Amino acid sequence: MPNFDLSQRVAFVTGGNGGIGLGMAKGLAEAGATVVIAGRSKTKAETALAELRALGEADFVELDVLDEASCRKAIDATAARFGRLDILVNNAGTTVRKQPQDLTTEEWRRVMDTNLTSAFVCAQAAYPHMKRGGGGKIINIGSMMSIFASSFAAPYAASKGGIVQMARALAVAWAKDNIQVNCILPGWIDTDLTRTARAQVPGLNERVLDRTPAGRWGSPADFAGIAVFLASRASDFITGTAIPVDGGFSVQT
Ligand code: NDP
Repeated sequence: MPNFDLSQRVAFVTGGNGGIGLGMAKGLAEAGATVVIAGRSKTKAETALAELRALGEADFVELDVLDEASCRKAIDATAARFGRLDILVNNAGTTVRKQPQDLTTEEWRRVMDTNLTSAFVCAQAAYPHMKRGGGGKIINIGSMMSIFASSFAAPYAASKGGIVQMARALAVAWAKDNIQVNCILPGWIDTDLTRTARAQVPGLNERVLDRTPAGRWGSPADFAGIAVFLASRASDFITGTAIPVDGGFSVQT
């Protein structure tokens, strides 16, 4: 039996107060990790924390990932409080759905900074703590837009393609420190993000059901297993990969 046990491990999950982030945080907590979730909404965090604390030790840090200094401070504070930092999940993400010709530079930067730059900043902040602890696991959340593209998603696709390439570079740089860096590429998952999309994009629900071989939307709970695997010793020789969790979306023509 491979080692999936995460007891004595400390995890920091951006956007862990809802959606896919919470699905992963719950998996990590169930496997024994102490989980710190970080996000902007305290209201969402209250519900999330109640669910996480039923599984193990958990806390919330109010954090806007666009604020670099706050990201570094929150990660340092987590490592100081719990004595170590083993797992970083870069999950916070956003999008602006517009045709490229209609996007402002501010919108482009906001999506890129939320989805990509913040992941780099958090990884860089986590690195010394992981190195000191003898290793670590960084899990970045990409998207089907890491592989495909869409007319309404120029900055989103750029950020999600970029996060895969960034993970590969970090994986190569930090392999000698026993830090593994991997990406998860979700298919279409039922969360706040896609509920808005369903409202904005006519016919999206039908297209997703038709195009996904599994014949359903994914759920946040579908990410618990992959999060535990990529955070545990079971994946110690796996680094720089991008694993679709998509009900077969990316392999069907
Ligand atoms: P949600 O909107 O439910 O979750 C997004 C999370 O990111 C929220 O918890 C939000 O917290 C957090 N977040 C957003 N902006 C910031 C910010 N500036 N600072 C701190 N936290 C922030 O959507 P999902 O769960 O669907 O998305 C999670 C990840 O999965 C994203 O990276 C998304 O791109 C990716 N993804 C989702 C897919 C899907 O089908 N749902 C498909 C492919 C990828 P708060 O509300 O507190 O700001």
